Amino acid sequence: MSAIDADVAIVGYGPVGSALAILLAQRGRSVTVLERWPEAYPLPRAVHFDHEVGRILQSCGIGDEVRSISQPADLYEWRNGAGATLLRFGTPGDGPSGWPAASMFNQPSLEALLTTFPTTRLNIDIKQWQPPMVAPLLALLRRHKAEHRVTLASFRARTLLAVRRRGYGGETALAQTEVAALLALPRRAIRALPFVGTAAQVPLKAGPIRFDRVGFIDRCHDLGLRVDFWTVDDPAEARRLIALGADGIMTDDPARMAPALRPR
Ligand SMILES: Cc1cc2nc3c(=O)[nH]c(=O)nc-3n(C[C@H](O)[C@H](O)[C@H](O)COP(=O)(O)OP(=O)(O)OC[C@H]3O[C@@H](n4cnc5c(N)ncnc54)[C@H](O)[C@@H]3O)c2cc1C
Repeated sequence: MSAIDADVAIVGYGPVGSALAILLAQRGRSVTVLERWPEAYPLPRAVHFDHEVGRILQSCGIGDEVRSISQPADLYEWRNGAGATLLRFGTPGDGPSGWPAASMFNQPSLEALLTTFPTTRLNIDIKQWQPPMVAPLLALLRRHKAEHRVTLASFRARTLLAVRRRGYGGETALAQTEVAALLALPRRAIRALPFVGTAAQVPLKAGPIRFDRVGFIDRCHDLGLRVDFWTVDDPAEARRLIALGADGIMTDDPARMAPALRPR
């Protein structure tokens, strides 16, 4: 078995393990979760959570979704087969955390929500143009309410234009032609361009042109653009780029790179 480099190892990807993994990742920790089964157990077990747990789930980034799969349980009543009440208790209304004092839920639905990586920012490079995939991709992102955390990129300017024309609410990377304009035009002319993209995602160099220069990075920042470099698998190289002002590093080896880039 190969060694795993992580700040925290969590054994078990039930609701407790998955919520803990999200909360640790939000605090900048690298986490490895070890689970013995490939899929979550599909049958209900836990059925109830209180207002404090509601608040914890909200801090995992799935508050609205959890409200939609749970219902307030003001009254808890046990009856016998004839319908006579045997036991009745309950806590009506909201608890001090702002969530219902008691909520009922279906555990597999909650586990499905927790495994959507609700707070992770994603970068999707659209490589396919035939058959067209912009419309189904945007529908998928909207269904998951994920536009605000997904940057869409493509080597093909027409694909990015199609994304923007359809009113995509999230960020888009610059097309290659837009990056070329950034390099070729004087600053004043660049400022007049209608940049809609928010990120210049570039290699270290393309032919004789080097992008890993303070001048290029500053020029992007002047325009309010983020600068992400691909593909960097060497931690020392990544640290050099960050020192130059790079905002993001795209890597094939995040397990090695993330610890190297964490603030000391
Ligand atoms: C019939 C039934 C009814 C229940 N009703 C309620 C209820 O009403 N309210 C309530 O709060 N709780 C209830 N529970 C308990 C409920 O299962 C837990 O509250 C909930 O699942 C706990 O979540 P968890 O993440 O701690 O553990 P689990 O959901 O049990 O997840 C643990 C995970 O760890 C994995 N794992 C364990 N050991 C290892 C290992 N060595 N290596 C790798 N993976 C491992 C398991 O495969 C599992 O996926 C009920 C349980 C049952 C069986």
